Amino acid sequence: MSHTTSHDPLSNHRYTDTEPSAGDFACGWCGAVASAYPPDGGRRGHCPSCLHARHDTPSCDARMTPIAVAVPRDGDWRVIHRCVRCDALSDRPVNGDDNQLVVMRMAVRPLAQPPFPLEAFAFAVGAV
Ligand SMILES: [Zn+2]
Ligand SMILES: [Zn+2]
Repeated sequence: MSHTTSHDPLSNHRYTDTEPSAGDFACGWCGAVASAYPPDGGRRGHCPSCLHARHDTPSCDARMTPIAVAVPRDGDWRVIHRCVRCDALSDRPVNGDDNQLVVMRMAVRPLAQPPFPLEAFAFAVGAV
């Protein structure tokens, strides 16, 4: 009667290796976990998978949805976020491991739904 039983309650405890640690960025919206420090430097400000961010202020911590991509003349691509609660805008650099599909979808969205005929504009700038 010396063998141990298999009814150790601890063995049923589910530990996941996606448990966020202090050095991780855990997305509260899609559940993705990534290093808080993207490979191209800086500190991660938005989820690399769904590109959502958190409005991290004392008065508001609501979700910020990515609404557009901005490309400064002399800088890297940036994601424009808008807070779903207070409508605040912010911009954060696109990281090297961000979901390229989401980034590109935002980048081409204005061209897919132009507010005026694109043909006329292309003619005006000599593109045709
Ligand atoms: Zn996410
Ligand atoms: Zn807010």
